Amino acid sequence: MDPILERYQALEDKIKLYNPRLDTKRLYEAFSYADNAHSTQKRKDGSPYITHPLAVAEIAADLELDTDSIMAALLHDTVEDTSATYDDVAKLFGKSVADLVDGVTKLTQVKYISKEEEQMENLRKMLMAMAKDIRVILIKICDRVHNMRTMQYQSPRKQREKALETMEIYAPIAHRLGMQRVKWELEDTSLQYLDPVGYKEISEELAARAAAHEEFMASIQKRIEDRLAEEHIKATVYGRIKHAYSIYRKMYGQNKTMDEIFDLYAFRVIVDDMNDCYKVLGCVHDMFKPVLGRFKDYIGTPKPNMYQSLHTTVIGREGLPFEVQIRTWNMHHTAEYGIAAHWKYKQGMANTALGSETAFEWVRKLLEAQQDTDAEEFLRSMRVDLFADEVFVFTPNGDIINLPAGATPIDFAYSIHSAVGNTMTGARVNGRMVPFDVHLQNGQIVEIITSKSAHGPSRDWMKICKSNEARNKIRQWFKRERREENIATGRSAFESELKHMGLSLAVITQEDVLPHVLKKVRFNSLDELYAAIGYGGMTAQKAVVRIKDELARLSRLQAERLAAARAAGEQESLHPAVKKDPAREPEKVPRFSDSGIIVEGLDNCLIKFAKCCTPVPGDEVVGFITRGFGVSVHRADCPNCMPEKRRPEEAGRWVKVSWAAGEQATYKTALDLSAKDRDGLTLDVAMALSTAKVKVNTLNSRALPDGHAFVSIVLEVKNQEQLASVINKLNQIQSVYQVKRTTG
Ligand code: MN
Repeated sequence: MDPILERYQALEDKIKLYNPRLDTKRLYEAFSYADNAHSTQKRKDGSPYITHPLAVAEIAADLELDTDSIMAALLHDTVEDTSATYDDVAKLFGKSVADLVDGVTKLTQVKYISKEEEQMENLRKMLMAMAKDIRVILIKICDRVHNMRTMQYQSPRKQREKALETMEIYAPIAHRLGMQRVKWELEDTSLQYLDPVGYKEISEELAARAAAHEEFMASIQKRIEDRLAEEHIKATVYGRIKHAYSIYRKMYGQNKTMDEIFDLYAFRVIVDDMNDCYKVLGCVHDMFKPVLGRFKDYIGTPKPNMYQSLHTTVIGREGLPFEVQIRTWNMHHTAEYGIAAHWKYKQGMANTALGSETAFEWVRKLLEAQQDTDAEEFLRSMRVDLFADEVFVFTPNGDIINLPAGATPIDFAYSIHSAVGNTMTGARVNGRMVPFDVHLQNGQIVEIITSKSAHGPSRDWMKICKSNEARNKIRQWFKRERREENIATGRSAFESELKHMGLSLAVITQEDVLPHVLKKVRFNSLDELYAAIGYGGMTAQKAVVRIKDELARLSRLQAERLAAARAAGEQESLHPAVKKDPAREPEKVPRFSDSGIIVEGLDNCLIKFAKCCTPVPGDEVVGFITRGFGVSVHRADCPNCMPEKRRPEEAGRWVKVSWAAGEQATYKTALDLSAKDRDGLTLDVAMALSTAKVKVNTLNSRALPDGHAFVSIVLEVKNQEQLASVINKLNQIQSVYQVKRTTG
């Protein structure tokens, strides 16, 4: 018989031992499909490629995995290495098998870049999260076990790479999943390539002492067996030498010789019943001297990976210490095969109090929930939902960033550093530009494009991002980077202007004055006013002039009321809090003798140009009939005139206005200019304005701490055309990146 077919037959027999209901037809089809698909390929050692998937399936059968997993093990390299596709596999063997193969293929494609410990932990988590079905991890581990067994055919470089990856990623995953036997094998085979000298030393030393070890272990084993027989406890006892990597860690990590290693030997006593465990412990402690502080009850308190046993270290003949592990068969199976064993032995486990909030809480829940379902059904539902709410992505350097599920490039950028987020102008995922709201997927490489001249985050980002971290950092930016800086600069400009006009801050911050002042400048708080001045939305000069007007009005009002009160012969409080609506008070209004504005349906009315948008001839304009002010003229695109800002009860106050032809007057308007700061910037701006032959009222230049500069200009122009040419000239100045008209 063909040796390959013979081997397949042996696999089938092995599975039938634990699964008599095996669908042999399906299994055989998977095998022959893989055999065909790989028919032209050879392993590095020259054997037919199919020997690898067969071996992986054998290891999976050792773990007593379900049929779909074994089929997926047979097919695991077909999609990656042959012309077979996911759809082919799904069509022939069903979605479940195809998903497993697909999952293993994806894990195989994750690039491993050696990193520090915490990154390793993240990579492990990422692999677990990527494998939405725990069986994917189990198959991948079987694949790795076989690859490590046959690593001698690979190049030394590949040997080292794979060994490191196995030691750092797959052995710890096997440990987490409680698969002790697999973990030991992975560690020992990896050590062989990572430190061949150390490995050789340990193997040789163990070999040299093999006879002595065996004699010692046999005698201890016999003594324990005899004693337990006397006590009528049915038990299986055996001894072993600890695995090479465990000895290696103690020898090299703690700088000890093999003789100094405390517990080179470990004995196992396996019993049928949990109560017997404690009885055995009593016997062992009676026979040998226990080492203080070495007793551990992992039955009462299982390890997070659900390992259960009693551990004790005792001193035997010749003063040699050894460890004794006592457990039931159920516990033993769990210890050896870990998670792979649990669906079979779930009844025993479900009664055990497992630590809450452990990494395996989900397993416990499943075990409880799945009491009555059959093994295959249970396994199928055993999804890794442990990390379902997390997503793991790489930086271009291979660092792993852990984000909440649904995270976007914005979250990624802010998780690296707020400065990265604040200067982000674009993002690439796996080398491709993506929109900011794309949801990142496990294993993607994300790259953030930043620019020094970026304008900072947009408020929309707070809606797009997923993490609180990103949202908080964006909020902080708006609050601190912009606002606080603006408040500080605005405040100092405002105070020096006050001083210049002979006013003190104390006067305007009086309880009964401040509200009127704020209303006059149309801000809700002083900080808002400062921020606006800092930003350039209003000049300090303008604010102070208005405030001065208001103070004058208030004191005039107060004087009038005092006089009136005196006339009426009654005492009244001196509060200037006006009983009349201050908005109705006649105000001193700048009068434009010849405004050049035609108001539809109104002749000869008072015209005022809105301070918020400072229209000039040529701009499209609208008018608003104010109470007492006449008509206020805004630019049609001024935010204050937008339909949503128009109150329904004032609908009749909005009027059509237009510019009169042939107007030669000049109009005040304001510009904001943003530039990268440099020597001579202000001079160049002044020169440009001068050559444009416009009258400049104010020119304030301010350097920002981030290397940018902000210039606010108030100038007088004849019309929009002239203004456009001024803006154009300003835009041509070196390092200027934005010139815009002030609104709002
Ligand atoms: Mn493989």
